[in-house]
Amino acid sequence: MTTALEAVLQVADTLAVGGIRDRSLCDACLGRLVGRAGHGLTNSERGRAIRERLTIDGGGPCSLCGGLLGEVDKFAALAAAKLAPWDFRTFLVGSKVDPEVVAREELLWTTVGAALAEGIKSELNREIGKRLEARLGIPAEFSRPDIVAVVDTAFDSVNVEVNPLFIYGRYRKLARGIPQTRWPCRRCRGKGCAHCGGRGKMYETSVEEMIAAPVMAQTGGSGHALHGMGREDVDARMLGRGRPFILEIKEPVRRSVDLGAVAAAVNPSGAVEVDGLRMASGAEVTPLKEDRAQKVYRVLVKFAAPVEDGNLKGAGASLVARPIGQRTPIRVSHRRADRTRERRILALEVTRSDRGTAELRITAEAGTYVKELVHGDRGRTTPSLAESLGVACEVVELDVLDIQDTG
Ligand SMILES: [Zn+2]
Ligand SMILES: [Zn+2]
Repeated sequence: MTTALEAVLQVADTLAVGGIRDRSLCDACLGRLVGRAGHGLTNSERGRAIRERLTIDGGGPCSLCGGLLGEVDKFAALAAAKLAPWDFRTFLVGSKVDPEVVAREELLWTTVGAALAEGIKSELNREIGKRLEARLGIPAEFSRPDIVAVVDTAFDSVNVEVNPLFIYGRYRKLARGIPQTRWPCRRCRGKGCAHCGGRGKMYETSVEEMIAAPVMAQTGGSGHALHGMGREDVDARMLGRGRPFILEIKEPVRRSVDLGAVAAAVNPSGAVEVDGLRMASGAEVTPLKEDRAQKVYRVLVKFAAPVEDGNLKGAGASLVARPIGQRTPIRVSHRRADRTRERRILALEVTRSDRGTAELRITAEAGTYVKELVHGDRGRTTPSLAESLGVACEVVELDVLDIQDTG
């Protein structure tokens, strides 16, 4: 059995060959040259053992770190002070080291070997991290920590990076004329002008702003974003079980959120309701946004000429389960690439008709442009209900009744 210390001493002689005796190094910098030998020791312990074995003098200033490794207690105290105002359950330490120090270390490796060496940054992160773990009583977290303290060793400063917090839920939008997210004014790009009445946005509020307001008040965040499983049109309601979303709060000062109080603040609006709220993680955002759930719509249609119920049902049935070619609609062509894609209608039911108008219940694949499916968008969607009927159709109302996600 080789002890950890023996493992270090076994490689010490290779350092002597590399001319290590001529360098003035602190214990930590000396030990770090073989930092991967001898599990469980600190680099300072490795360094002291090597110094004894090779009878190297100590005491002079370290030619590599200039005394940096003797300052980890100070760096830990600086980091702890910077972290104090923030609420977090997990943390990590990072560091910025003067590039000249890193370059000196790499130059030393070229003469004494780097096979077992550890970099100075890695040691600083670990040693400052160990001291913070002891102060805070929680272990460092490498995967998605709530907060990261980055110590700049050259300036004795600490920069705190606060990761966002995420809340999952479903929203219903019971009123028309509310966009999902803030819609900045196109003329002034948010600054405020005569066109937008100085608000910087085209609508008074949005689903995002209504849900975020009570969460921002609770957390003291610096900003927010709403990630939806798709989006409905401004003038469409979102009914049924609602649309899954994840609300992201940037740089929250406080991370514990009373979700019941959030729902209680949003729901009496009568315009937007939330339920199923729970804390989420950033890893859930991409799968939510990429979910290809089919949607069920209610569409109120007005015909340009009388349409008999039988003809309507026949035209509707002809659209089901066949490819519908949809070129990017005119109404979104200013912000989306012009291309043609194929979608399918899974069901189309006429729930009411009176020759002049009709109400349809349509189940469609994710990404179907439903208004265009009905009116045809001047031939850009084909086949369409208007094309199949031979009568122009106008969409008077559109609601999303259900999003059939797997969650
Ligand atoms: Zn040193
Ligand atoms: Zn404006």
